[in-house]
Amino acid sequence: MIHEYHMTIGGRDASAKAFLDVINPATEDVIGRAPDAGNAELDAAVEAAQRAFPSWAATPWADRQAALVHAAEVINENKEELAQLLTLEHGKPLAEARREMDTSRRWCTSLATLELPVEVVSDENGRRVEVRHEPIGVVAGISPWNVPVSSAIWKILPAVLTGNTIVVKPAPTAPLTVLKIGELLRDVFPAGVINVITGGDALGPLITAHPGFGKISFTGSTATGRAVMASASAGVKRLTLELGGNDPALVFADIDIPDTAAKLFRSAFFNNGQVCVATKRCYVHEDIYDAFLAEMTRLVAGSLVATGTTDGVALGPIHNKAQFESLTGMLDTAKAEGLVLIQPSEIPSGKGYFLAPTLVDNPPEDSQIMQEEQFGPILPLVKFKDTDDVIERANASQYGLAATVWTKNRDLALDVAARLDTGNVWVNEPLAFSPFAVFGGRKQSGLGVEHGLRGLEEFTNSKAVTLNFES
Ligand code: NAD
Repeated sequence: MIHEYHMTIGGRDASAKAFLDVINPATEDVIGRAPDAGNAELDAAVEAAQRAFPSWAATPWADRQAALVHAAEVINENKEELAQLLTLEHGKPLAEARREMDTSRRWCTSLATLELPVEVVSDENGRRVEVRHEPIGVVAGISPWNVPVSSAIWKILPAVLTGNTIVVKPAPTAPLTVLKIGELLRDVFPAGVINVITGGDALGPLITAHPGFGKISFTGSTATGRAVMASASAGVKRLTLELGGNDPALVFADIDIPDTAAKLFRSAFFNNGQVCVATKRCYVHEDIYDAFLAEMTRLVAGSLVATGTTDGVALGPIHNKAQFESLTGMLDTAKAEGLVLIQPSEIPSGKGYFLAPTLVDNPPEDSQIMQEEQFGPILPLVKFKDTDDVIERANASQYGLAATVWTKNRDLALDVAARLDTGNVWVNEPLAFSPFAVFGGRKQSGLGVEHGLRGLEEFTNSKAVTLNFES
């Protein structure tokens, strides 16, 4: 008997007329069913969120902070069950699923320390100008499948801390853990503050066109982001778009090769490379290129590709069939272009979307593998000689999400960081997310930011109030 999960609308179980099968990508078996919501369920969720809004917006900030701390406790108490479910529906190693729960819990407690007080711009002779940050209303959160829990939590927390209510829609291929979290949070937040709905490809456009939303917070591909932006324009809805990337790493000749290679291996292959800020192009100084490639090859050869619950697993299956086929298509193109692919790992035979992690040896800049976001366990490494040239090549992309720089030379790192056209630059460490630092993409990698105080502000409308009581 396959378990049917429930949506959360107005603090209660909600279902739909149809269901989506959710597949374990390691076995291709159906492991659960999620409601396939349409207009009726969406309307019900928006109405529940609208009903809950006035009293939640009027709830003192300190009480909303306390609710976030309580949410952290609930996630922690249920961490193991949630992590097991996440691995089952997503494929990622269990250790990474547990880490995703820890990240979500940490975001709850960290955001709970933030405040957006009234800013007093001037206050002289009885005349005072102040800027207030007020909640927008009902927010829609649309999230992707790669880190299903974190990406949903990163929408829920800032929305509700700032006094909004929210309807969240996780991706159709990995909705179950977020549905479960929706159930658990019913004991933490008043009914209607957090609503979780699920559905297939048709539901996203219904959400972005719905007049009940004041803001859309979207994370996903650049192609879908454009559609979201077009649809949201009808109601001039507030928008945050966290989109795709083709992140470069710039590896200079003075680094410690084993140490940097280990960190870059994580940057490129963590979560099977299915990360918006994974390193997707690795520029290595020509003086160390051969030694660096040899070390990366050794690391790839030593990483176990297996089901997410296997002891010592480094890489699970690719999350879904469509992504698996997109990646195998890219590798076929690379082979047809005569590129050198290095695939030293064994992968499980039989069912499951397992793909051998792949290094590509010095492909040309205009090859598909360099130009497009792979979003999988494929890393092209290319040689460079000149700093100005490598910065120009790194910046020559429609994307501008994150970049990493690897050197012992602080002045060089600062100069390169200043010249990279990306929203984030991380020097000598990968994936350096912080709940307190803004995160967002430039160019076609996005619009607006998440995290930190600026991320919170994006869930508010600013209001300047001028009080003149001059006598
Ligand atoms: P996707 O764009 O296919 O889907 C994202 C979400 O949008 C899903 O919930 C999907 O159901 C929904 N959706 C699909 N069509 C829609 C439409 N027309 N209107 C509204 N919603 C719609 O992305 P994905 O395949 O789930 O995720 C991978 C992509 O997400 C990659 O490009 C990756 O780089 C990007 N991503 C970006 C960030 C970031 O913070 N910048 C983080 C994670 C993933």
